[in-house]
Amino acid sequence: MDMPQVARCQVRECAYNSSGACHALAITVGDENTAKCDTFFAIPQKGGDPQAVGRVGACKVTACLYNDMLECQAASITVDMPNGEADCMTFREE
Ligand code: SF4
Repeated sequence: MDMPQVARCQVRECAYNSSGACHALAITVGDENTAKCDTFFAIPQKGGDPQAVGRVGACKVTACLYNDMLECQAASITVDMPNGEADCMTFREE
């Protein structure tokens, strides 16, 4: 299994985000019921590897079409904050 890239993340207040890109080496998405980015962390300090594009290390949303054995198998994902939470916009209900 390959870890999909976070192709775009619009959650600029996250410590791992710079200029609309995620730089966490491996994010975790979800609890079982909501496809939120569980790695989101809002502090003034920046983190992650600025040379790296974020990837999805694990996904706990078993109801997603792309979830296989608790891993994300989408080609890539995007993350945004449409309702005040950092949500995986690639989530598709199975
Ligand atoms: S994908 Fe998650 S960890 Fe990465 S920048 Fe966006 S909110 Fe932060």
